[in-house]
Amino acid sequence: MKTEAMFYEKLENKIHCFLCPHNCVIEENHYGKCNVRIHEHGKLYTINYGEVTSVSLDPIEKKPLHYFKPSTNILSVGSFGCNFTCGFCQNHQISQVKAPSNFITKEKLVELILTVENNIGIAFTYNEPSIWFEYVYEVSKLLKEMNEKAAVVLVTNGYISEEPLKMLLPYVDAMNIDLKSYNNKYYNEICGGNLSPVLKTIEIANKRCHVEVTTLLVSNENDSMEEVGDIAKFLSIINNNIPLHLSRYFPRYKMDNPPTSVEDMIRAEKVAKKYLNRVSLGNM
Ligand code: SF4
Repeated sequence: MKTEAMFYEKLENKIHCFLCPHNCVIEENHYGKCNVRIHEHGKLYTINYGEVTSVSLDPIEKKPLHYFKPSTNILSVGSFGCNFTCGFCQNHQISQVKAPSNFITKEKLVELILTVENNIGIAFTYNEPSIWFEYVYEVSKLLKEMNEKAAVVLVTNGYISEEPLKMLLPYVDAMNIDLKSYNNKYYNEICGGNLSPVLKTIEIANKRCHVEVTTLLVSNENDSMEEVGDIAKFLSIINNNIPLHLSRYFPRYKMDNPPTSVEDMIRAEKVAKKYLNRVSLGNM
C-alpha cells in the first residue's frame, strides 16, 4: 500500500529523504535509491507499507541469532526493496525488484504473531527492514502494547539514520546486523553504501538490545586475515561478547568469484577468536 513516508523534508522542487544515510534528494515522480520511496506532488510516499512477500516460522538460529532465546521459533516476514545493491545478494528476487506481495494490516499481522503456536514474536528479515520503516515501527509498537514479552527482531544491513534507529530501538529486542566489510571501497563498489554508518548502528544498537553480527567472507574481496582481524577488533572494543557469524560465500546473483575456501574460513575463525568470545562459522 502506498502511504506517506516519515523522515523527509521538502526542498524547493525536490524532496530530501533522511531515513537512511543515502540522504536521497528526489525529483518529482522519481524514486530514491531504495526504489520504494517516491516523490509525488511535493510529498514522499513509501510503496511497500504492509506489503508482505514472504512469511515463515523459522528457528531463531536461522536469522542467525545464536544467543537470543535459543531453540525457539520466530515468525519471519519480509517485503520488497533494499537500500543496498550487493552483487552477491541471495534474496535479490525481492530486494532488487518490486516482487509480488500481499497487503496485511498491522492489526492482522499482530494477531497472527500472537496466535501462531510455538512462536516467540516477529523477525523483520528477508529484505531490508530499514526501508520498511513505517510498517516495522507500527507493528513493533502495537505488538509490544498487546504483549510486551513478544520478541521483535531485525535482520538488517544497519544502513539507517540515527533518528529513525533511536525511534525504533525501544521496541526491538535483538538485531543481527551485517558488517559486510571493514573497507569503505568494498561498501561503495560491491554494496552501494558506506561503512561508517553501519559501524555507528552497531555501536548504538549494542547499548539498547541484543546484537549479533554477520560477515559474509567473499573470496578475493574481504577474506584477508587482516580485514577479519579489523572487524573482530572493532567489535571487541564495543563488547567482546558480541557474537560474530562468519559466513562462507558461494557464487550467486551477479558475483562469480569462487566459493571461499574452507581453509580460509577456519583461519578467519581463529583470527576473530583472538578478540571475541563468540565466533561461529556458517554456510559450511
Ligand atoms: S530510504 Fe534511503 S535510499 Fe530510500 S529514498 Fe530514503 S534516503 Fe534514499
